[in-house]
Amino acid sequence: MYSLVLYDSCGNTHTGVLFDHDRTKRADTRSVSHQTAVEHFEISLQTPSGEVSTAIGVPTSFVPVTAILPLMRSLGEEVQTLELARVRESGQTVSCQKGCAACCRMLVPISAPEAFALANSIDRLAPQERERLLSKIDVAQQHLARAGVLPQLSALAESPDPISDEAIEPLNRAYYALRMPCPFLDNEVCSIYEDRPAACRELAVTSPATDCQNMTNPTVRPVPVAVRISTALSLLWADLTATTPRLIPLPLAIDWAKRHHAEQAGRWAGTELFEKAIDKIGRYLGQERARRESGG
Ligand code: SF4
Repeated sequence: MYSLVLYDSCGNTHTGVLFDHDRTKRADTRSVSHQTAVEHFEISLQTPSGEVSTAIGVPTSFVPVTAILPLMRSLGEEVQTLELARVRESGQTVSCQKGCAACCRMLVPISAPEAFALANSIDRLAPQERERLLSKIDVAQQHLARAGVLPQLSALAESPDPISDEAIEPLNRAYYALRMPCPFLDNEVCSIYEDRPAACRELAVTSPATDCQNMTNPTVRPVPVAVRISTALSLLWADLTATTPRLIPLPLAIDWAKRHHAEQAGRWAGTELFEKAIDKIGRYLGQERARRESGG
Protein backbone atom coordinates (compact mmCIF):
# COMPACT_ATOMS: atom_id res chain seq x y z
CA MET A 1 0.00 0.00 0.00
CA TYR A 2 1.21 3.48 -0.81
CA SER A 3 -0.24 6.25 1.24
CA LEU A 4 0.59 9.39 3.08
CA VAL A 5 -1.16 10.08 6.35
CA LEU A 6 -0.79 13.06 8.63
CA TYR A 7 -2.00 13.12 12.21
CA ASP A 8 -2.77 16.32 14.03
CA SER A 9 -3.02 17.00 17.73
CA CYS A 10 -6.48 15.42 17.93
CA GLY A 11 -5.48 12.28 16.11
CA ASN A 12 -7.42 13.31 13.03
CA THR A 13 -5.90 12.43 9.70
CA HIS A 14 -4.87 15.16 7.30
CA THR A 15 -3.32 15.60 3.94
CA GLY A 16 -1.08 18.59 3.95
CA VAL A 17 2.22 20.45 3.55
CA LEU A 18 5.29 20.31 5.62
CA PHE A 19 7.95 22.84 6.26
CA ASP A 20 10.54 22.96 9.02
CA HIS A 21 11.47 19.35 9.37
CA ASP A 22 11.76 18.63 13.07
CA ARG A 23 11.85 15.11 14.37
CA THR A 24 11.96 16.14 18.00
CA LYS A 25 8.62 17.92 18.32
CA ARG A 26 5.44 16.14 19.23
CA ALA A 27 2.39 16.39 17.03
CA ASP A 28 0.20 17.44 19.94
CA THR A 29 1.68 20.91 20.23
CA ARG A 30 1.00 24.27 18.71
CA SER A 31 3.73 26.81 19.27
CA VAL A 32 4.81 30.30 18.39
CA SER A 33 8.46 30.73 17.56
CA HIS A 34 10.23 33.68 15.97
CA GLN A 35 6.82 35.36 15.78
CA THR A 36 5.59 32.66 13.37
CA ALA A 37 2.77 30.35 14.43
CA VAL A 38 3.60 26.75 13.65
CA GLU A 39 1.38 23.71 13.86
CA HIS A 40 3.08 20.38 14.29
CA PHE A 41 2.15 17.22 12.44
CA GLU A 42 3.35 13.68 12.29
CA ILE A 43 3.57 12.01 8.91
CA SER A 44 3.42 8.33 8.09
CA LEU A 45 4.33 7.65 4.49
CA GLN A 46 3.95 4.11 3.18
CA THR A 47 6.35 3.64 0.28
CA PRO A 48 7.17 0.57 -1.83
CA SER A 49 10.18 -0.09 0.39
CA GLY A 50 8.72 0.66 3.81
CA GLU A 51 7.38 3.42 5.98
CA VAL A 52 8.74 6.93 6.39
CA SER A 53 7.58 8.53 9.65
CA THR A 54 8.49 12.03 10.61
CA ALA A 55 7.29 15.10 12.49
CA ILE A 56 7.11 18.51 10.89
CA GLY A 57 6.09 22.05 11.68
CA VAL A 58 3.71 23.87 9.33
CA PRO A 59 3.60 27.66 9.52
CA THR A 60 0.08 28.95 9.60
CA SER A 61 1.11 32.22 7.95
CA PHE A 62 1.48 33.01 4.25
CA VAL A 63 4.73 31.74 2.76
CA PRO A 64 6.49 31.57 -0.63
CA VAL A 65 6.49 28.31 -2.54
CA THR A 66 10.21 27.84 -1.86
CA ALA A 67 9.38 27.35 1.84
CA ILE A 68 8.28 23.85 1.08
CA LEU A 69 11.53 22.71 -0.54
CA PRO A 70 13.40 21.59 2.60
CA LEU A 71 10.57 19.30 3.59
CA MET A 72 9.99 17.92 0.08
CA ARG A 73 13.69 17.22 -0.33
CA SER A 74 13.88 15.61 3.06
CA LEU A 75 10.91 13.36 2.34
CA GLY A 76 12.37 12.43 -1.03
CA GLU A 77 15.73 11.57 0.52
CA GLU A 78 14.14 9.47 3.26
CA VAL A 79 12.09 7.55 0.71
CA GLN A 80 15.18 7.03 -1.42
CA THR A 81 17.17 5.86 1.61
CA LEU A 82 14.62 3.05 2.00
CA GLU A 83 14.99 2.16 -1.68
CA LEU A 84 18.78 2.02 -1.30
CA ALA A 85 18.47 -0.15 1.82
CA ARG A 86 16.18 -2.52 -0.04
CA VAL A 87 18.57 -2.99 -2.95
CA ARG A 88 21.48 -3.51 -0.54
CA GLU A 89 19.49 -6.12 1.39
CA SER A 90 18.94 -7.91 -1.92
CA GLY A 91 22.72 -8.26 -2.21
CA GLN A 92 23.34 -5.46 -4.68
CA THR A 93 25.97 -2.77 -4.19
CA VAL A 94 25.34 0.90 -4.81
CA SER A 95 28.29 2.14 -6.87
CA CYS A 96 27.84 5.90 -6.46
CA GLN A 97 30.39 7.78 -4.36
CA LYS A 98 31.92 11.22 -4.05
CA GLY A 99 34.26 12.03 -6.92
CA CYS A 100 32.25 10.10 -9.48
CA ALA A 101 30.17 12.54 -11.49
CA ALA A 102 29.60 10.60 -14.69
CA CYS A 103 25.86 11.28 -14.45
CA CYS A 104 26.47 15.05 -14.18
CA ARG A 105 26.59 15.14 -18.00
CA MET A 106 22.90 14.32 -18.30
CA LEU A 107 20.05 16.74 -18.80
CA VAL A 108 18.78 17.63 -15.30
CA PRO A 109 15.15 18.79 -15.25
CA ILE A 110 14.10 20.96 -12.33
CA SER A 111 10.80 22.41 -11.14
CA ALA A 112 9.93 26.09 -10.94
CA PRO A 113 10.19 26.18 -7.11
CA GLU A 114 13.67 24.66 -7.37
CA ALA A 115 14.65 27.19 -10.04
CA PHE A 116 13.56 30.06 -7.78
CA ALA A 117 15.43 28.59 -4.81
CA LEU A 118 18.57 28.02 -6.87
CA ALA A 119 18.50 31.57 -8.21
CA ASN A 120 18.10 32.87 -4.66
CA SER A 121 21.06 30.76 -3.52
CA ILE A 122 23.24 32.08 -6.33
CA ASP A 123 22.21 35.64 -5.44
CA ARG A 124 23.38 35.11 -1.87
CA LEU A 125 26.87 33.98 -2.92
CA ALA A 126 29.88 36.24 -2.61
CA PRO A 127 30.15 38.35 -5.80
CA GLN A 128 33.26 36.57 -7.08
CA GLU A 129 31.75 33.11 -6.68
CA ARG A 130 28.43 34.26 -8.13
CA GLU A 131 30.16 35.66 -11.21
CA ARG A 132 32.22 32.51 -11.59
CA LEU A 133 29.11 30.31 -11.63
CA LEU A 134 27.16 32.63 -13.91
CA SER A 135 30.09 32.66 -16.29
CA LYS A 136 30.13 28.85 -16.35
CA ILE A 137 26.40 28.83 -17.06
CA ASP A 138 26.96 31.27 -19.91
CA VAL A 139 29.68 29.05 -21.38
CA ALA A 140 27.37 26.04 -21.10
CA GLN A 141 24.58 27.88 -22.90
CA GLN A 142 26.96 28.89 -25.69
CA HIS A 143 27.97 25.26 -26.04
CA LEU A 144 24.31 24.21 -26.23
CA ALA A 145 23.62 26.93 -28.80
CA ARG A 146 26.51 25.79 -31.01
CA ALA A 147 25.22 22.21 -30.76
CA GLY A 148 21.81 23.40 -31.90
CA VAL A 149 19.86 22.19 -28.87
CA LEU A 150 19.41 25.49 -27.02
CA PRO A 151 16.16 26.45 -28.84
CA GLN A 152 14.58 23.12 -27.95
CA LEU A 153 15.68 23.44 -24.33
CA SER A 154 14.25 26.96 -24.17
CA ALA A 155 11.00 25.74 -25.69
CA LEU A 156 10.86 22.99 -23.08
CA ALA A 157 11.20 25.53 -20.27
CA GLU A 158 8.49 27.84 -21.63
CA SER A 159 6.10 25.47 -23.39
CA PRO A 160 2.45 26.35 -22.72
CA ASP A 161 1.52 22.72 -23.36
CA PRO A 162 2.43 19.55 -21.45
CA ILE A 163 5.35 17.65 -22.97
CA SER A 164 5.47 13.88 -22.59
CA ASP A 165 8.52 11.93 -21.46
CA GLU A 166 8.54 10.29 -24.90
CA ALA A 167 8.75 13.67 -26.61
CA ILE A 168 11.62 14.75 -24.37
CA GLU A 169 13.64 11.58 -24.85
CA PRO A 170 15.32 12.64 -28.16
CA LEU A 171 16.37 15.89 -26.48
CA ASN A 172 17.73 13.95 -23.52
CA ARG A 173 19.84 11.89 -25.88
CA ALA A 174 21.05 14.89 -27.89
CA TYR A 175 22.04 16.67 -24.69
CA TYR A 176 23.86 13.66 -23.25
CA ALA A 177 25.65 13.07 -26.54
CA LEU A 178 27.52 16.34 -25.88
CA ARG A 179 28.96 14.94 -22.61
CA MET A 180 28.91 18.52 -21.38
CA PRO A 181 29.69 18.74 -17.65
CA CYS A 182 27.01 20.45 -15.59
CA PRO A 183 28.00 24.11 -15.09
CA PHE A 184 27.87 23.51 -11.33
CA LEU A 185 30.44 20.72 -11.51
CA ASP A 186 33.92 21.63 -10.22
CA ASN A 187 36.67 19.00 -10.45
CA GLU A 188 34.01 16.29 -10.55
CA VAL A 189 32.40 17.60 -7.34
CA CYS A 190 29.06 19.40 -7.15
CA SER A 191 29.64 23.02 -6.14
CA ILE A 192 26.02 23.46 -5.01
CA TYR A 193 25.71 20.18 -3.16
CA GLU A 194 23.35 21.42 -0.43
CA ASP A 195 21.15 23.14 -3.02
CA ARG A 196 21.37 20.54 -5.77
CA PRO A 197 18.14 19.62 -7.56
CA ALA A 198 15.96 16.74 -6.45
CA ALA A 199 16.74 14.84 -9.65
CA CYS A 200 20.43 14.79 -8.68
CA ARG A 201 19.59 13.44 -5.21
CA GLU A 202 17.50 10.60 -6.64
CA LEU A 203 19.95 9.07 -9.11
CA ALA A 204 21.97 6.07 -7.96
CA VAL A 205 23.05 2.89 -9.72
CA THR A 206 23.85 -0.67 -8.73
CA SER A 207 25.78 -1.45 -11.91
CA PRO A 208 29.58 -1.00 -12.00
CA ALA A 209 30.62 2.67 -11.99
CA THR A 210 32.57 2.12 -15.20
CA ASP A 211 29.28 1.45 -17.02
CA CYS A 212 28.25 5.06 -16.28
CA GLN A 213 30.80 6.31 -18.79
CA ASN A 214 27.88 5.76 -21.13
CA MET A 215 24.61 6.28 -19.27
CA THR A 216 22.65 5.01 -22.29
CA ASN A 217 24.37 1.66 -21.85
CA PRO A 218 21.62 -0.91 -21.16
CA THR A 219 23.78 -2.44 -18.43
CA VAL A 220 23.35 0.68 -16.28
CA ARG A 221 20.95 -0.26 -13.45
CA PRO A 222 19.40 2.76 -11.74
CA VAL A 223 17.93 2.32 -8.27
CA PRO A 224 14.12 2.70 -8.59
CA VAL A 225 12.72 6.06 -7.47
CA ALA A 226 9.40 5.87 -5.61
CA VAL A 227 8.73 9.62 -5.65
CA ARG A 228 10.28 12.10 -8.06
CA ILE A 229 10.22 15.26 -6.02
CA SER A 230 10.92 17.57 -8.97
CA THR A 231 7.81 16.22 -10.69
CA ALA A 232 5.71 16.63 -7.53
CA LEU A 233 6.97 20.21 -7.20
CA SER A 234 6.29 20.86 -10.87
CA LEU A 235 2.69 19.68 -10.43
CA LEU A 236 2.37 21.79 -7.30
CA TRP A 237 3.54 24.93 -9.08
CA ALA A 238 1.17 24.29 -11.98
CA ASP A 239 -1.69 23.88 -9.52
CA LEU A 240 -0.82 27.05 -7.61
CA THR A 241 -0.45 29.18 -10.74
CA ALA A 242 -3.00 27.50 -13.03
CA THR A 243 -0.28 26.80 -15.57
CA THR A 244 1.13 23.76 -17.34
CA PRO A 245 3.43 21.46 -15.35
CA ARG A 246 6.92 22.16 -16.60
CA LEU A 247 10.45 20.98 -16.02
CA ILE A 248 13.25 23.43 -16.71
CA PRO A 249 16.66 22.31 -18.01
CA LEU A 250 19.19 23.09 -15.26
CA PRO A 251 21.55 25.25 -17.40
CA LEU A 252 18.58 27.55 -18.16
CA ALA A 253 17.12 27.62 -14.65
CA ILE A 254 18.67 30.86 -13.40
CA ASP A 255 17.57 32.75 -16.51
CA TRP A 256 14.10 31.22 -16.25
CA ALA A 257 13.79 32.27 -12.60
CA LYS A 258 14.79 35.82 -13.49
CA ARG A 259 12.27 36.00 -16.33
CA HIS A 260 9.54 34.73 -14.00
CA HIS A 261 10.66 36.75 -11.00
CA ALA A 262 7.24 38.35 -10.49
CA GLU A 263 5.65 34.94 -9.99
CA GLN A 264 7.99 34.22 -7.11
CA ALA A 265 6.36 37.01 -5.13
CA GLY A 266 3.27 34.84 -4.65
CA ARG A 267 2.38 33.76 -1.11
CA TRP A 268 0.14 30.93 0.00
CA ALA A 269 -1.31 29.95 3.35
CA GLY A 270 0.87 27.24 4.88
CA THR A 271 -2.06 24.85 5.13
CA GLU A 272 -3.01 25.31 1.48
CA LEU A 273 0.55 24.70 0.32
CA PHE A 274 0.68 21.72 2.65
CA GLU A 275 -2.45 20.08 1.27
CA LYS A 276 -1.57 20.62 -2.36
CA ALA A 277 1.99 19.33 -2.01
CA ILE A 278 0.95 16.17 -0.24
CA ASP A 279 -1.72 15.60 -2.87
CA LYS A 280 1.00 15.63 -5.54
CA ILE A 281 3.17 13.16 -3.63
CA GLY A 282 0.16 10.90 -3.13
CA ARG A 283 -0.62 10.97 -6.83
CA TYR A 284 2.94 10.13 -7.74
CA LEU A 285 2.99 7.23 -5.30
CA GLY A 286 -0.28 5.96 -6.73
CA GLN A 287 1.11 5.99 -10.26
CA GLU A 288 4.32 4.34 -9.12
CA ARG A 289 2.29 1.63 -7.37
CA ALA A 290 0.36 0.92 -10.54
CA ARG A 291 3.56 0.87 -12.55
CA ARG A 292 5.34 -1.57 -10.26
CA GLU A 293 2.31 -3.82 -9.83
CA SER A 294 2.03 -4.07 -13.60
CA GLY A 295 5.70 -5.00 -13.77
CA GLY A 296 6.60 -1.80 -15.63
S1 SF4 B 1 23.73 20.15 -9.82
FE1 SF4 B 1 25.49 19.11 -8.92
S2 SF4 B 1 24.85 16.94 -8.71
FE2 SF4 B 1 23.42 17.95 -10.13
S3 SF4 B 1 24.25 17.56 -12.21
FE3 SF4 B 1 25.05 19.55 -11.51
S4 SF4 B 1 27.04 19.08 -10.56
FE4 SF4 B 1 25.89 17.14 -10.72
